Amino acid sequence: MSTRGSRIAQRVMANRIGSSTRVIAGEIVKGRVAAHEKHGENSIEAVPASETGRWLAILGEEFGEVCRALTYDQNMNLRDELLDVASVAVAWIAAIDAEED
Ligand SMILES: [Mg+2]
Repeated sequence: MSTRGSRIAQRVMANRIGSSTRVIAGEIVKGRVAAHEKHGENSIEAVPASETGRWLAILGEEFGEVCRALTYDQNMNLRDELLDVASVAVAWIAAIDAEED
């Protein structure tokens, strides 16, 4: 592939990655807001980043649900469970960032 062709292919791929990431990021925002409204003061939005054991337990629970979605007797949606893992990871990152501000 020519250099120009390679640059175009890279730009197309970057646009595809950006587009899909923006869609999923929007789903994460909606999911975090809905979970916070549902759980109120007990939502993960109130967990300090310093409580790493608690964060790890929450992330581990969601990861376990991804694994469960892959078992033969699953009735869980793999995409939804992966979105839960991403949402918890983003919330944890946000908590870390908030403590650094
Ligand atoms: Mg889940």
